[in-house]
Amino acid sequence: MAMDQATPLDAAAVSTDAGQLIQQTPAAEPGLARPRAGQPLSGQSRPVSTQHVAARPAASAQHRPQPPTAGSSRQNGRPSSGDEERARLRLAGIIDDQEEIFVRRQPESLRLAGRASGSLAGGVTSSWQITRPQPVWLSHGQGSRIYDVDGNEYVDLHGGYGAALAGHGHPAIVEAVRSQVGLGTHFAQPTRTAIAVAEELSRRFGLPQWRFANSGTEATMDAVHLMRAITGRDLIIKVEGCYHGHHDSVQVSVCPEADDIGPADRPLSVPSSTGIPKAITDLTLIVGFNDLVAVKRVLEENPGQVAGMIVEPIMMNAGIILPEPGYLAGLADLLHAHGSLLAFDEVKTGLTAGPGGATGLTGVTPDIVCLAKAIGGGVSVAAIGGTAAVMSHVASGDYEMVGTFNGNPLAMAACRAMLCSVATPDAYDRLERLRLRAVEGVQRAIDQNGLQARVVSVGAKGCVVFSAEPVRDFRDFLGVDDQYSQAHWLFQHNGGVFLPPWGKSEQWLISVQHDETDIDLFVDNFAAFAAAVGG
Ligand code: PLP
Repeated sequence: MAMDQATPLDAAAVSTDAGQLIQQTPAAEPGLARPRAGQPLSGQSRPVSTQHVAARPAASAQHRPQPPTAGSSRQNGRPSSGDEERARLRLAGIIDDQEEIFVRRQPESLRLAGRASGSLAGGVTSSWQITRPQPVWLSHGQGSRIYDVDGNEYVDLHGGYGAALAGHGHPAIVEAVRSQVGLGTHFAQPTRTAIAVAEELSRRFGLPQWRFANSGTEATMDAVHLMRAITGRDLIIKVEGCYHGHHDSVQVSVCPEADDIGPADRPLSVPSSTGIPKAITDLTLIVGFNDLVAVKRVLEENPGQVAGMIVEPIMMNAGIILPEPGYLAGLADLLHAHGSLLAFDEVKTGLTAGPGGATGLTGVTPDIVCLAKAIGGGVSVAAIGGTAAVMSHVASGDYEMVGTFNGNPLAMAACRAMLCSVATPDAYDRLERLRLRAVEGVQRAIDQNGLQARVVSVGAKGCVVFSAEPVRDFRDFLGVDDQYSQAHWLFQHNGGVFLPPWGKSEQWLISVQHDETDIDLFVDNFAAFAAAVGG
C-alpha cells in the first residue's frame, strides 16, 4: 500500500516493503488549456422536482464545514478579485444546477425524508446524514455498488465513512456472520475468536495486547481514560481539526470557525458540540498538526500535568493531511521525555492506509492504537491496542475497560474474517493498482483543465484538495474553498458515484471489491466536473 505526496517523507516515515507509500500530487500550473464544460453526465435527464430540502442542523455545523449555499461568495475570509468572484458565481450556478438534478433523481428519498421527520429526530439516524440538497435513502449494497430507494445505482466510494473496505456482501464476511448467528450472537463472555483477532492485530500493529469496544468513539474514550489513569494527570493534547468521536474530552477544536481559533502559535480550545462542560474542554490543549514546537511548548508550560496526546497519524477529517518527516517520531520522543503517552487514532487509517495502518506505514509505534470502522467488515466493532506497560493497567484492574458488547461474538467473527480472509496481501496489491489508476486519472483532468487542485492518497483512501498550495494543518485547510468539493460531490453523485457527503472534509474509500470499471467512472465524472469548473 502506498501514500504519495510531492515532497518525500523521511526514511522513517516511508520504510515499508511496498516502495512508494504516500502521494500528494502538485496542483496544475496556472495557465494550462481549459476546455469548456463536458458532456452531460448519466442520469441527468430525469423530470425536475422543484422541491429542495436544505436541512442542516445547527449542531452539525459545529463539527463539519458547511456545504456552501448556492450563490454564497464566502471564501474563508479572503477577499476575492473580480475574476475570482465571477468564477465563484459560475461555480454557485453549477452547484444549483447539480442540486436540481440530484433532487429530480430521488423523489422516493424525498418522500421518505418527509415521513421520517415524524418519528426520527431530524428525519435521519445520525445528524451528519442531514446533507444538502437532501439525505439519500439507500435500499441495499452489493460488491462495489450501492442502490438508493429510487433504484439509482452508485459505485460506492463513500464506504460508510470509511468502514466498507470489504465492499458489500463480501462472501467471507457473509459466511462468518451467517455461521455465528446460528451459534449465538451475544454472551458477554469471551470466545476463542477474540484471541485470533487480538493475535492478528498484534502482528499487524506491533502492539502486544488488545481489548475491544463497539465504535471509534468508545476506543478513543478508553485511550484518553487510560492515559489519564496511568499518569494520574488530567490534561491531554489534541490536534486542531482532528476528529476522534463524540465524547467530551475530544469534542474540542474539531472544525472550529476561523474567527474562534485564536493565534496559530496558541490555538484556543474551542468546544465542538453543545452539551460539553467548559471545565472538560479546558483540559484539552490544542496544537496544530505537524507542529512539534507547539507540543514542546505545551509540555514545558504544563510540567507534570499532561497525560498524553491523541492524534490521527494521518489526518483524515480535513481531507487528507500527511505527517511531515520526523513528526510522528518526534511526538513520541517529546511526550515520553515528559512522562506523557502517545495515542494514535487509527479509526480511519486502520486497515485502509495499509495492512498495519499508519503505524505500519510510518514505522512509528505509539503507546496506544485505536481502531474501528473497517476492521469489522461492516459490523460495528472497535479495538484498543497497547504496549505491555500500558495494558498492564487494564490487566491489573487499575483501569477497568468495560462494555456489555465488548468482544461480542458476532463482531469478532466478522473481524476475524476481515483480517484473515479479506484484507489479504493480494487485496492490498489490487487496492494499490486501483489507487494509482484513480490518482493518475484525476491528475490528468486537473492538468488538462488547469485546476488549482492536488490529489492526496494513502492506500485505499484519497481525496482532491482544491488548493494551489499543499495543506499541512487545519488552518491551511480552513482556507480551502469548499464550493469546489460540493460541486465535485454533486457531479459524482449525479454521475453514479457515491462519495462521502461533506466533500471537503472526507475522502474516497476504494474497497477490495472495486474494479477498473468503477475507478474509470469516477475518473470520467471528475473529468466532466473539471471541464465544467475549469473553463
Ligand atoms: N476517530 C476518527 C479518526 C474518526 O474519523 C471517527 C469517525 O468518523 C471516530 C474516531 C469516531 O468513530 P465512531 O463514529 O465509530 O464513533
